[in-house]
Amino acid sequence: MRKAGICSWITLCWILLLFFGRRILAQIRYSVPEEVKDRTVVGNVAKDLGLDVASLGERKFRIVSETNGDIFGVNADTGALFVHGRIDREQLCQGSGTCLMEQKVLVENPLEVHYLVVEITDVNDHAPTFPKDSQTFEIAEHTLPGKKYQLHPAHDPDAGINSIRTYTLSANEHFEINIRQSDLGKIPFLELKKPLDREQSSKHSLLLTAVDGGKPPKSGTLNITIIVLDSNDNKPVFTQEIYHITVKENLERGKIIFKLNATDADEGINGEIEYSLGETLTQDLYLTFELNTVTGEIVTKVPIDFEKTEHYELDVEASDKGAPPLTGECRVIIKIVDVNDNSPEIDVTSLSNTVSENSKPGTVISLIRVKDKDSGVNGKIIAHITNNVPFELKPSYKENTYSVVTKDFLDREQVSNYDITIKATDCGEPPLSTTKTLSIQILDVNDNSPKFEQNPLYFYIVENNVAGTSLFSVTAADKDKNENADVSYSIARTGQEKDVALFLNVNAENGQITALKSFDFETLKSFQFQVVASDSGTPSLSSNVTVHVFILDQNDNAPVILYPVSSNASAEGVEEIPRNVNAGHLVTKVRAYDADIGYNGWLLFSLQGVTDHSLFGLDRYTGQIRTLRLFTETDEAQYKLVILVKDNGNVSLSATATVLVKVVDPSEAFAASDVKSSTKDAEDTNHHCADCNAVLQVQH
Ligand code: CA
Ligand code: CA
Ligand code: CA
Ligand code: CA
Ligand code: CA
Ligand code: CA
Ligand code: CA
Repeated sequence: MRKAGICSWITLCWILLLFFGRRILAQIRYSVPEEVKDRTVVGNVAKDLGLDVASLGERKFRIVSETNGDIFGVNADTGALFVHGRIDREQLCQGSGTCLMEQKVLVENPLEVHYLVVEITDVNDHAPTFPKDSQTFEIAEHTLPGKKYQLHPAHDPDAGINSIRTYTLSANEHFEINIRQSDLGKIPFLELKKPLDREQSSKHSLLLTAVDGGKPPKSGTLNITIIVLDSNDNKPVFTQEIYHITVKENLERGKIIFKLNATDADEGINGEIEYSLGETLTQDLYLTFELNTVTGEIVTKVPIDFEKTEHYELDVEASDKGAPPLTGECRVIIKIVDVNDNSPEIDVTSLSNTVSENSKPGTVISLIRVKDKDSGVNGKIIAHITNNVPFELKPSYKENTYSVVTKDFLDREQVSNYDITIKATDCGEPPLSTTKTLSIQILDVNDNSPKFEQNPLYFYIVENNVAGTSLFSVTAADKDKNENADVSYSIARTGQEKDVALFLNVNAENGQITALKSFDFETLKSFQFQVVASDSGTPSLSSNVTVHVFILDQNDNAPVILYPVSSNASAEGVEEIPRNVNAGHLVTKVRAYDADIGYNGWLLFSLQGVTDHSLFGLDRYTGQIRTLRLFTETDEAQYKLVILVKDNGNVSLSATATVLVKVVDPSEAFAASDVKSSTKDAEDTNHHCADCNAVLQVQH
């Protein structure tokens, strides 16, 4: 402090000395610009001192600089003061305003000391320079205008107007330059005029130019870099406010149905996006959809059913991670597209599972309704009956409603029940279908009368039946059902057969016919009557059958000898023949009758006892007795023939006849025998078989 005080005093004394020195000793003052050429003449010292050079003679000039060395010289002959070497004002007078060079001019013999001052004037030989090439600032976006940032000041060693006159800033819309004058010179400041937006431009490059006042001016530049720091001033933005997407139902779980895309113009975490579903959605939406917070992909969590929900609306948010975070919203409208995943359903709304067989075509049996949960063509149904039944589907005025009606006449006796198969098919691709079977029972109507297998009926019964026992039975069938088919039998007691009916009875339930008497073939060979079969329907239907009954013969009659006249199944006749008859002479013919027919009435004759077998032969079929040889003188005059007459019944019955043959002289016997034989022959052809033939005819 004390040293500084002393120093100040010395400076002051020096200035005062100079001032008064010049005034007193020399008033010579020169001025020369710096950096002039060597030997440039500044002035004429001799002249200015009033010295006549020529008169000086041996006296010499000499110039002495006490501080700055020999920067000037003087021509001893002319007294001209000239520049010696190079003059650099900035080197000689660092920082000071006026640069004055004190020179001592010595004139010898006698020594005179003169003082002169040369002012070195400034030349603009320096450009302003900045201490560094560049300067960088980090400024937050949205910093308020008016904020100032100090810049490096430039330096220019020149003086006065050659020094820094001003600063200029490259054209830009955010900053202006501000200059503050201080002791050290002009200090430039950068002033923010308009807020910065990192999203518009994250870096600004400016050029600060320091210009001096020289002519021409010189300048220096400083590169200024402004790095704009991000602030979270942008919210995430979706590419659309509303997204309309369509999704097929029955999509498998976990399928990505859409990928959202939001962008945030900010930087770093301010621009990092996290997606989330809105917080006020219905619970169903959270259960159905999942949103990937990072990728923005929307995934189904469960299979989607169009039949349950046809569309969804999701509110989605995208938030950045700034502090505080900013959020953008969008809406996703998901339209579900129907898929043909439901088969039609067939509902039987009313069904009478019975229909009377006499129903007219068009009778309604049932009402059905078809439905399909799908929509559009997937739910459009075509219904029809697939099997060949006399029923049809008739569409109702109401959509998807049909009546099942009879298409034709029905006949229970032909088909008693039907299975109607209804098929409903939708129009989806591929179509789905459902079938349903209705079982319909056809109700009986009494439309069939009982029918006998044959009409008329023929029965054969053996005579001598036991009265009151069953002979045979008749049966009529009825195609109807239950009481309509419940047949009862009766005998018609009308018309010609009235009398016959009196001795016949029929079991109403089983049709067994019973005779109240025993029949005798020999009295009654056949009869007929009518049986009525009636069902129990209301009204009842009936039909008749004519029953022809033929009585069959039994061997219940023994042969009856007609000739010779018989009694007690034995007879005896007497025949006379002449002794001279030839062999083969017809003696007589045994005639017999049997009331039975056929084998029972077919009689065979045989000789049971004869006195001489060589004389008589009996024809077993005709009953004729003939001689076998001529009579001889030794033959007897009388013979007894016993003849057995036997029918051919199973257990045959028989009778015997006895013929006495008397051999007489020819003259006595002749006339009578001729008459006899002619009548006998005529009877033979007649025989007894007329009845027999009648029976056989019927039998066949
Ligand atoms: Ca200069
Ligand atoms: Ca920002
Ligand atoms: Ca942001
Ligand atoms: Ca569907
Ligand atoms: Ca369907
Ligand atoms: Ca019927
Ligand atoms: Ca008989």
